[in-house]
Amino acid sequence: MKILHHREIRYTVYSWVGLTGLLLAGCESAPSPPKQEANQMVYFDRGTKRAVVYNIASEFPEIHPQTGKPTLVPASYCPHCKQWNPSPPLEVRERNPKAGLCPKGCGTTLTLDGPWPNVVL
Ligand SMILES: [Zn+2]
Repeated sequence: MKILHHREIRYTVYSWVGLTGLLLAGCESAPSPPKQEANQMVYFDRGTKRAVVYNIASEFPEIHPQTGKPTLVPASYCPHCKQWNPSPPLEVRERNPKAGLCPKGCGTTLTLDGPWPNVVL
């Protein structure tokens, strides 16, 4: 009887953890995301040649909110050089697989994941 009782307690704890997880997951898919980063992405600013964080756009290049010039292009990250680079357009990448490599010539494939820059527009 004692063992059964302990199991029951365990199940209660597990179901609580499961419920909390479900609730958190439900929040994330809600129309207004609690995290600000959810509607932002990393851009490479061709004007300043720096990586910046800005709202996700439907078309690229995106207009820089301070200069009014279309200098913001999607950025991709080189884990070898630890640098954000301007992403080549999708049609270029489809035609030329090497376009997805680091422009610095280190031979590393660029990824979309990397440490986000501190500059938020
Ligand atoms: Zn590189």
